[in-house]
Amino acid sequence: MEKLKNFINGEYRAPINSQYLENFEPSTGEVYSLIPNSSKEDVDLAVKSAEEAFPIWSSMSKEQRSNILINLSKGIEARSEEFINAESKDNGKPVSLARSVDIPRSIANFHFFATAILHFASESHNMEGLGINYTIRKPIGIVGCISPWNLPLYLFSWKIAPALASGNCVIAKPSEVTPYTAYLLGQVAKDAGLPPGVLNILHGEGNLVGDSIVKHPSIKAISFTGGTATGSIIAQKAASMFKKTSLELGGKNPNIIFADCDFELMIKTTLRSSFANQGQICLCGSRIFVEKSIYHKFKEEFVKQVDNLLVSNPADPNAKLGSVVSKPHMNKILSHIKIAKEEGGKILTGGNQVKLDKPYDKGYYIRPTVIEGLSFDCKTNQEEIFGPVVTLIPFEKEDDVIMMANSTEYGLSATIWTSDLKRAHRVSNQLQVGLVWINSWLVRDLRTPFGGMKSSGMGREGGWEALRFFTEPKNIFIKY
Ligand code: NDP
Repeated sequence: MEKLKNFINGEYRAPINSQYLENFEPSTGEVYSLIPNSSKEDVDLAVKSAEEAFPIWSSMSKEQRSNILINLSKGIEARSEEFINAESKDNGKPVSLARSVDIPRSIANFHFFATAILHFASESHNMEGLGINYTIRKPIGIVGCISPWNLPLYLFSWKIAPALASGNCVIAKPSEVTPYTAYLLGQVAKDAGLPPGVLNILHGEGNLVGDSIVKHPSIKAISFTGGTATGSIIAQKAASMFKKTSLELGGKNPNIIFADCDFELMIKTTLRSSFANQGQICLCGSRIFVEKSIYHKFKEEFVKQVDNLLVSNPADPNAKLGSVVSKPHMNKILSHIKIAKEEGGKILTGGNQVKLDKPYDKGYYIRPTVIEGLSFDCKTNQEEIFGPVVTLIPFEKEDDVIMMANSTEYGLSATIWTSDLKRAHRVSNQLQVGLVWINSWLVRDLRTPFGGMKSSGMGREGGWEALRFFTEPKNIFIKY
């Protein structure tokens, strides 16, 4: 069986403790590779190589770093079929989704930050007759990047690219559940000309190797995407060491549908925003609020179209949903569906596991599930499920839907459907979220601030926000 390795100091290396973890293929439920169960010793080694690389990498010109990162982006593109198939196999998502979203966006992330850094400027503040302040921004040094399993290379590269572009050396850890594309990235980085030690990729468990990254005194900043509970643990440890943190956490996003919307476009998009990537996108709209006057029309049409969504093995070109990422995650989703029933929810469609034919009969498939009849403040409507499960909630008044939308501890994103421009602005302004899409969903411009408020996170990624996070400002005053 294939054994993955860590990528340290420009070389693939076995973990120092020779311990490995099983890596499952979610579409079949079979173990298909082993990954290093790395420990503190591997982190120490990676940090040592990063410390040696930092003076070289940080003193290169922006143009040199930019060229290497563009090479890296082209390197993924040149091997994109390999990356697409690896991502689908590791995560269970349809190959078609890895082809249209994950891998193109990973390529774009490196390309975007490779060029953004060339335009990144700092400020000066003139004090009439007295002097001038100018601010310089320097790379932090060694930074840690920890990412989740839902969009593996996409979110991994979303952190690594700005960290490297701004001159830092990186110790990165992908999710242990989806390590494969991060593993492939090491060779691509080496072929692109990234000096040894600049990017180190360690595999293993969050509470072992992840924790060692968070606690290492030489790692000065942590960029983390994952669950809110993990984010809280990381925030506490990092705070006691005065580390900079960027935390992108969970969500329970409202999708607010007013009667005056473009119904056809809304239904088409709501199918995607509910079930893309098996509902395992932090931006999926899992609470669907529908204005009462169109509630029945919406329910009928939506459920009909959800019934037509094909759940199949990821290689099936007609698959709209593949498998969810792991057995524990499947069981977690199914237990949430059980809770919804106990709370009095009515399952309009789905609600069950799907058994496919061999060799996919042990895979982790769940039918897209639509539930109605639950109060906005019940457990099902307050807790993140992170699977193909949505609830329908009717509303009459704008104020009521805003109150219900804002009622969870989360504040990541929201979607609003209306043709009334004034209302769109008014409601957007009152929603406690970091991102709003009006009459659309998941349209991404990499220059815009990305992230959430409340328990959905701290700080923002994207564009200048990311480059500012990965640099340390120093203000210098000169007297006239
Ligand atoms: P987790 O929080 O379980 O894990 C995220 C990463 O953190 C993994 O690499 C994990 O390692 C690692 N980790 C776990 N414990 C620790 C620790 N104590 N110290 C350091 N690292 C640790 O999240 P999931 O992987 O389950 O991802 C799903 C979650 O991510 C959902 O809540 C989702 O909403 C959120 N998310 C948020 C996004 C956003 O932009 N706001 C985007 C995408 C997802 P390992 O799993 O290998 O043990």
